[in-house]
Amino acid sequence: MSGEKNVILVTGGSGLVGQAIKTVVEEERRQDAVRASKESWIFCSSKDADLRDKAQTDALFEKHKPTHVIHLAAIVGGLFENMAHNLEFFRENMAINDNVLNACFKNDVKKVVSCLSTCIFPDKITYPIDETMVHNGLPHPSNYGYSYAKRMVDILNRGYHEQHGCMFTSVIPCNVFGAHDNYSVSAAHVVPALVRRMHDAVLAGDKTFTVLGTGKPLRQFIYSLDLAKLMLWVLRNYNSVEPIILSVDEEDEVTISDVAEAIKKAHNYQGEIVYDTTKADGQYKKTASNKKLRSLYKDFTFTPFEKAIQESVKWFIENREHARL
Ligand code: NDP
Repeated sequence: MSGEKNVILVTGGSGLVGQAIKTVVEEERRQDAVRASKESWIFCSSKDADLRDKAQTDALFEKHKPTHVIHLAAIVGGLFENMAHNLEFFRENMAINDNVLNACFKNDVKKVVSCLSTCIFPDKITYPIDETMVHNGLPHPSNYGYSYAKRMVDILNRGYHEQHGCMFTSVIPCNVFGAHDNYSVSAAHVVPALVRRMHDAVLAGDKTFTVLGTGKPLRQFIYSLDLAKLMLWVLRNYNSVEPIILSVDEEDEVTISDVAEAIKKAHNYQGEIVYDTTKADGQYKKTASNKKLRSLYKDFTFTPFEKAIQESVKWFIENREHARL
């Protein structure tokens, strides 16, 4: 980033990842007054502009004139929400991404970091997954709408780079969890869904708690504050159009059952966990390699999974009233 004052606009700034970036930036600003004086941060939500709408998107950029953009805004959902709404996930995310990246181009934004996801990789693939495999085959049928819309961000980045020299890049996070997640029963990802439902079970004094599916699928989970730190590092130090996977190490992959047990411990839930094996599991695994990240940012330390789950459950209990339920 340059010596002049940078204006960094974060789309999707009210969401899980956006709020984590805000927390990390606020901490940085407390510690580093010089950096604070050189950066101005704007965190936007859909209330500032509906980014599916081109005119509203253009007006947002006209108002703030950002020099840098972290593009997080997306229609995001868990397995069951995705399965029911592939068309909407495709159309609305395509519209958001096309409007935002085009506004970045028209406003000479120096750098854009957008978010893909490890769940958009081909279903039939060799493991571990790496950054070169994004377009190598069909995504899992459960979330093809979201997956293709995300893959097109990479196509847009390459097009703007090739034809106009833009530095628009993307990160590929694994599953994210933390404060400010979406805890709605129909839309939530697995961690917030379990955090919320188990809290309900604690409050109701339920003797058993049902996890949907077998509990056997394997996943990598990154704490939102860790992802936020890594995204700031990408914004400031990573200068390639090629996507970069932001994930915990392969050996830190856990089963859904491990997740449920960690959440049980954090809630101090005394009942028994049972599995409804009639429900869909989704992809069995999607192990991603963070080799590229490890080669470029050698000394990054991830928060231990159980500690991050403890902090996330604590946040939910303390903030349930205002959380997205
Ligand atoms: P959230 O669902 O928590 O937040 C979504 C954000 O997008 C909110 O700020 C929301 O604003 C905004 N938004 C949604 N629709 C619109 C719209 N039409 N116009 C303007 N803003 C809109 O998402 P996350 O923080 O979890 O995800 C951030 C990014 O990371 C996304 O691109 C997602 O695909 C990606 N990602 C997420 C993973 C995860 O596990 N959560 C994993 C891998 C990638 P509002 O609050 O007003 O609704």
